[in-house]
Amino acid sequence: MTEGSMLQSFIARNRRLFVLTGAGCSTSSGIPDYRDGDGKWKRMAPVTYQAFMGDRATRQRYWARSLLGWRRFSRALPNDTHRALARLEGMGRIELLLTQNVDRLHQAAGSTRVIDIHGRLDRVRCMDCGRELPRDELQDELVRLNPDWLALDAADAPDGDADLESADFSSFAVPSCRRCDGVLKPDVVFFGENVPRQRIEAAAKQLERADAMLIVGSSLMVYSGFRFVQMAAAAGKPLAAVNLGRTRADGLLTLKVEQASEAALAFLL
Ligand SMILES: [Zn+2]
Repeated sequence: MTEGSMLQSFIARNRRLFVLTGAGCSTSSGIPDYRDGDGKWKRMAPVTYQAFMGDRATRQRYWARSLLGWRRFSRALPNDTHRALARLEGMGRIELLLTQNVDRLHQAAGSTRVIDIHGRLDRVRCMDCGRELPRDELQDELVRLNPDWLALDAADAPDGDADLESADFSSFAVPSCRRCDGVLKPDVVFFGENVPRQRIEAAAKQLERADAMLIVGSSLMVYSGFRFVQMAAAAGKPLAAVNLGRTRADGLLTLKVEQASEAALAFLL
């Protein structure tokens, strides 16, 4: 039996799936991932919550790179992996799709039973008064305050970031909250920041109702995703993963399919 047909029978056998997805789902939509096949950083580690909140220069650098990266990130479209999983939901087979991605491409493909465990990049939040605004609105503001920066070109990096290293960020103007002048932060969970507890609890409740877990395009190096694999394994639920390269859960898997997710899930389309 090939890996592909084993995956088909895994999905046929387990009626209610808890699906966990990661960056590998979105790479062919033009959104780069952070890690190589061994789960190691491909580039500089991303900004931490502590640095972002504590240091104005870090925020200048973050938003300058984001000003450039957002243009392409915001135009990314779902691919066949997103469509295959939306189809699986349409067949009534998905208890929950828990994604580590912040790009909202599962929702764009039509999935509705989704929890964005790491938040969403299309929204910005004031860390003082809690006001929320669309990232597009902040983009207009960033461009208005820093018109010259748009002319700079840089390669796209993960999560709407751009590789822009040599610039002098000290002149970059960072908008603050219009209501309270507080610090604005993308509504995503930064490295070094905790996932909101209610979000974890909601997902854990749905994991209990699922028959099995399917991991798509994640090396599971981040604990916020890996913890659900541990929960599923502890509850004796079968675990399958579709991922190119090593995952942190390799020793726990019932089935591992080392293929690009679009190819592995093509049978659903
Ligand atoms: Zn505010």
